[in-house]
Amino acid sequence: MYHVSEIHTRSAMVRSKITGVDFVINPYLGCTHGCSYCYAAFMAKYARLHSGWEWGSFVEVKVNVVDALCIELQKSRKTGRVLLSSVCDPYQPVEKKYELTRQCLIALQEHGRPIEILTRSPLVVRDLDLLRHRTASVGLSIPTDSDAVRRELEPNAPSIPNRIEALRRLREAGVNTWVFIGPMLPMNPERLHAAVSDYAGHVVIDALNYRGRVRDLFLNNGWRHELTDEYARTTARALEMLFGSRVSHA
Ligand code: SF4
Repeated sequence: MYHVSEIHTRSAMVRSKITGVDFVINPYLGCTHGCSYCYAAFMAKYARLHSGWEWGSFVEVKVNVVDALCIELQKSRKTGRVLLSSVCDPYQPVEKKYELTRQCLIALQEHGRPIEILTRSPLVVRDLDLLRHRTASVGLSIPTDSDAVRRELEPNAPSIPNRIEALRRLREAGVNTWVFIGPMLPMNPERLHAAVSDYAGHVVIDALNYRGRVRDLFLNNGWRHELTDEYARTTARALEMLFGSRVSHA
């Protein structure tokens, strides 16, 4: 279970240094997927109403983020690609109720902004009507082919089969889709390739960065080798062979 609070934000779009992206929008502070290796867990210290709470146990909903975005879009002459999201999943479960990501998409499209989505959630399929737009691109994070691995490391996130099904539905509906294999968790690269290859325009891969955070979890599961640089190198090489020119590195 997790705790939900509503907050007000002063801004919606934040300038980004992520390659290929100019701005990011995080409609939520916190992410209830609570992945054990999460690179964004440092954001917990910025929580307004959940100071000291564990990452994954709360979400603060920026209820006025769409109003803030509309003001910024009207004022700003700067164009550029906008990512939802960088430090939360824009389609985490509270999005079903609040629909902030959906409303942000509508506002961005009204202003002709190119959009990038990155999510682990099949809820993204709800917004197919908006995402068919040719300037939108949707990435599904699928860092392993194994749902057993997912259950250990991302226990509150949607299952791997459900993500692949969402990817398939988006692709077959004409959406520009891609897959983020990051971090490269314990996996069978051939099986992962077979599962997603038909539905991914391109693939972005990334190594496991915060290894100290998940060291015990990996060792308890017998994944000692999967914590090493050698594992990251050989897995990246295998994925490069399988996906060919469609692969890039984060
Ligand atoms: S979905 Fe992303 S932001 Fe959310 S907990 Fe997992 S890694 Fe962190």
